[in-house]
Amino acid sequence: MKFAIDIGHNCSPDIGAKGIKFEDALTKEVGSKVIEKLKKLGHEVINVLPVRCNSVSDSLNRRVQVSNLNNVNLYVSIHFNAGGGQGSEVYFYPGSTTGERYSKSVLSELVKLGYKNRGVKNGSSLYVVRNAKAPAILIEVSFVDSKDDMSKYNAEKIANAIVKGLTGKAPEESVPVKDNDKENKIYKVQVGAFTDKNNAEAMVQKLKEKGFNAVID
Ligand SMILES: [Zn+2]
Repeated sequence: MKFAIDIGHNCSPDIGAKGIKFEDALTKEVGSKVIEKLKKLGHEVINVLPVRCNSVSDSLNRRVQVSNLNNVNLYVSIHFNAGGGQGSEVYFYPGSTTGERYSKSVLSELVKLGYKNRGVKNGSSLYVVRNAKAPAILIEVSFVDSKDDMSKYNAEKIANAIVKGLTGKAPEESVPVKDNDKENKIYKVQVGAFTDKNNAEAMVQKLKEKGFNAVID
């Protein structure tokens, strides 16, 4: 599947809300993880965040144009809310069954993280939802000015929830390997330990040349 991922704001003068945390930082962190995780699952991703923006409307227009040119299957805009509320909500264009389906599945995954369910909503007044050629959803993950929401903020978990909602697949969680599990015991072979990273990289290179699959741990 081909996704447009829209990391909200982050293109001055298009800047996000400021509360306990800054929306720009959160959309960037979560959005980057979502992009990485979708690619890992084999999906094509177009990052539509513009490099330069002349105005807020220019910022929004550029995002939609890039998405439209790339004929994506789904446009996903990632935002954080502000204004005194709490919890998650997802917007879609009324009548878009695809938009509605993805809005509901993403929202239900976010709610599992403990965020209040504010429901799926009419996004017809939102520029990107209205103008993207593909079905589009806009996720308001949580509120940057809510103490409760911000105390729950975890970019990794939020990104996993969004990806699960979009693909039905949970991305790999980085679970530590259990040492005492005999059946899954991993025996690592070490060929060197270096204080200088260059030396470690040189050794990896040498091993790779000999056909070994080496990694720096
Ligand atoms: Zn926003």
